[in-house]
Amino acid sequence: MSFLQSIKNSVRSKSIHVSYVNVGSCNGCDIEVLAMLAPRYDIEQYGIYVHNNPREADVLLVTGAFTPQWEDKLKSIWDKIPEPKVAIAIGNCPISGCVFNRRGSYVDPPVAKHIPIAAEVPGCPPRPTEILNAVLSLAPLVFKDYEEKQS
Ligand code: SF4
Repeated sequence: MSFLQSIKNSVRSKSIHVSYVNVGSCNGCDIEVLAMLAPRYDIEQYGIYVHNNPREADVLLVTGAFTPQWEDKLKSIWDKIPEPKVAIAIGNCPISGCVFNRRGSYVDPPVAKHIPIAAEVPGCPPRPTEILNAVLSLAPLVFKDYEEKQS
């Protein structure tokens, strides 16, 4: 393992990097995800950082009921995230389609049909604390390989 890779693993073993994608939501859940970033919930105090580069992510948050435009795009984003990785379905939309899942609707839930989902946070929308708890609950899965590589 190179020196730079060793430094990177050391840093990454102490923080969770989250990417976030909306595959067709009403934006209600997205506002709750953004609220996690704001001072009231301040997820960075837990060592969780949100950015939009899947190649640097450990966790993918997914909102929305899954519209056809995302058929290839979501899989492509998921494939770019290095192992170990997990995806979390945020809100009722990626779990069941929620209000968008009607006869004749073009949405195609659940998102678990399209990429592996490690945890679901139900609600319309869920609270920021529930989303935060889901991310923290998956930390052992995300950190497992880093700890094994460094031991
Ligand atoms: S679960 Fe509710 S709040 Fe969240 S995107 Fe769907 S309809 Fe909107």
